[in-house]
Amino acid sequence: AIPLVVAINTSLAARNGMLVRDRIAMERARTLDTVVFDKTGTLTEGEQGVVDIATVDGVSEDEALALAATVEGDSEHMIARAIREAADERGLERGTATDFEALKGKGVRATVDGAALRAAGLSRGDEPRDGERVHVGGPNLLSELEGGMPTDLERFADRAGENAQTVVYLIREGDPVAAFALADVVREESYRVVDALHELGLEVAMLTGDSEDVARAVADDLGIDTVFAEVLPEDKDEKITELQAQGKSVAMVGDGVNDAPALTRADIGIAIGSGTDVAVQSADIILVKNNPMDVVRLVKLSRASYRKMQ
Ligand code: ADP
Ligand code: MG
Repeated sequence: AIPLVVAINTSLAARNGMLVRDRIAMERARTLDTVVFDKTGTLTEGEQGVVDIATVDGVSEDEALALAATVEGDSEHMIARAIREAADERGLERGTATDFEALKGKGVRATVDGAALRAAGLSRGDEPRDGERVHVGGPNLLSELEGGMPTDLERFADRAGENAQTVVYLIREGDPVAAFALADVVREESYRVVDALHELGLEVAMLTGDSEDVARAVADDLGIDTVFAEVLPEDKDEKITELQAQGKSVAMVGDGVNDAPALTRADIGIAIGSGTDVAVQSADIILVKNNPMDVVRLVKLSRASYRKMQ
């Protein structure tokens, strides 16, 4: 049988917009030390838009955008959607490509038809190629590629990073030829969440695949204590383990497929209700109203109820 206090709690939680999949998690919430948040889509709106483009000599913004949109194919990633939207807004035709591949936490890759490249005015003017490998991706992808970064693109990325904008690169045969800056908006509630968790004596951390610069800018803005940036999806749960090894009881809050292993690993996994199915299925508690402030309510509710029990 379910102890009465737990049953009461669960219905209280439900009334507060929380769906409790693991009742014990409700009880554990009162002893938490650290709350770790995913950045994109959790602390931020996650609706990014392309706000700036830089290209190397000989490549126009339109060419770069059309090619990037081609390579993103039908990827569901928010960055992919933003790039396709920007290309559509400019009325750009997409080229043809094959062998689409998603590189989790890094970017995408496809083989672009040489003839299509030339037809779109995207050929570099050198010998026609049968198939050219083109990537679009961020810092985790760059660290794998050998090509050097053109100074112009490097400067563009530094400036964007300072403004908390995410930068992804268009890379042809290993050489970066353009960069796109994407702006996301920090959710209004996120400021209050961090303050309220601090008031409850909890530590707040951020875990993201995005660049160190962007993560730092958002964390500083919000007053977050610890930042884990440029973390690959398969390494996210290790960061939770690191915190647990320091003797901390850890909650993870996330929305993406990438967050699932970390949600499972955490002492309490909390999914944003509008998140992906995989995240929701990996969580102990689901925030139905998509409001991160409900994390604060969860801790308060747990402390209030279980105090009575002792
Ligand atoms: P987060 O941890 O912030 O939710 P992801 O793990 O989904 O982010 O992605 C991490 C990084 O990988 C992004 O910031 C971006 O640099 C790169 N990336 C992932 N998917 C794509 C894509 N479809 N197009 C371009 N870049 C991508
Ligand atoms: Mg996310």
